Amino acid sequence: SGPAAPFSLPRPRAALPAGTPAPPPAAHLFSDPAEIEALRGNLLAWYDRCKRELPWRTLAATEPDADRRAYAVWVSEIMLQQTQVATVIDYYNRWMQKWPTLQALAQASLEEVNELWAGLGYYSRGKRLQEAARKVVSELAGRMPRTAEDLQKLLPGVGRYTAGAIASISYGQATGVVDGNVIRVLCRLRCIGADSSSPAVIDRLWDMANALVDRSRPGDFNQALMELGATVCVPKAPLCGECPVKQHCQARRRKLFGKSTPVPDVEDCGVGGCPLCPPATEPWDSSLGVTNFPRKAAKKQPRVARTATCVLERRGCHGAPEYLIVQRPSSGLLAGLWEFPSLPLAQGLQEEKQREALADHLQAWTGWPVVAGDLRFIREVIHIFSHIHQTYVVYSLPLDGDVTLDTALSPSRWVTAEEFHASAVSTAMKKV
Ligand code: SF4
Repeated sequence: SGPAAPFSLPRPRAALPAGTPAPPPAAHLFSDPAEIEALRGNLLAWYDRCKRELPWRTLAATEPDADRRAYAVWVSEIMLQQTQVATVIDYYNRWMQKWPTLQALAQASLEEVNELWAGLGYYSRGKRLQEAARKVVSELAGRMPRTAEDLQKLLPGVGRYTAGAIASISYGQATGVVDGNVIRVLCRLRCIGADSSSPAVIDRLWDMANALVDRSRPGDFNQALMELGATVCVPKAPLCGECPVKQHCQARRRKLFGKSTPVPDVEDCGVGGCPLCPPATEPWDSSLGVTNFPRKAAKKQPRVARTATCVLERRGCHGAPEYLIVQRPSSGLLAGLWEFPSLPLAQGLQEEKQREALADHLQAWTGWPVVAGDLRFIREVIHIFSHIHQTYVVYSLPLDGDVTLDTALSPSRWVTAEEFHASAVSTAMKKV
């Protein structure tokens, strides 16, 4: 491992030209090269001993072709955004079996991508991944960009984190990563209690990640830091006793011994004015221990929405029931996925009005007279999307005859229950 990047060493404040923001106090940085070296060694030794065997790690370690390796890491990183490792494994294996290369993915249809993604949530991720794969094939001759900077610049949907992960894990570029797990670990290691979602804190954490990353094993180091956050330095009850970097952890020191230890810049730290300390209005709470860190500004409440949805049912030609599904528009929430005919409802609409509105919607759509009273209320189903608290008011309507649908309206088809589950439908619709 090489030396720490020089920007982890705070400069004396007096030397700064007017208008330059002051660097954070040394207490919040890693300023001792020997400590950085020790932390890297301890973390990597732990990772080698305890890491989870995961299919994308195996591919990253064994695939000799750099483009295929980068593609394998990229797919895993996109799937892992907002989704648990345990859920991703199956999806990942199926995806890599079906589309082992960028070229294979570029040739897939969006429908196939949506079908495989169904149930994983945040559906635009699959679509964006495929669009970017097409771009690599058509505009970059199938060659993945070779640095984090180029990955971020050239690939749609690849942000700073994903670019850093692909470049460090696939190419060995010594560049750090900051995701939710890394934020938690670094904030605890250095008692950073200012709002961890604020750009000022996030910038500092990137600086710190770049300074800490091991120069000879950057991919392993980054994965180790994330793994530590996922398995040891977890949000609610971290396992500090088993932590390989506990001797470097100021939150733990503070928990055990009170106020943080030798603070060279004590005047600026903990008494207001420090950009990385908790706000003076939210002092250290000893009942929380190390989970005082990180801190986030209060989350915005999710938007509340109601949607009437109707399960239209008919007897199929073999006597088995069939259900009508329609395709959502190609942009916006759940773009391109299939659902039962649905209608967003105004807030506070009475039951009777809801039913009438849905009947009108179905009538306009099927061209059949639909009587509101024939719609049978089943129950309400709640589904929480990341930012929407959605209630589906579910009705059913059995049909005797056949219905000819206006093909000029959104695409639609009749499916059996089995076909429904194999279609590109959201988890919310499966609940319905
Ligand atoms: Fe996290 Fe505890 Fe380790 Fe500190 S000692 S990094 S709080 S697990």
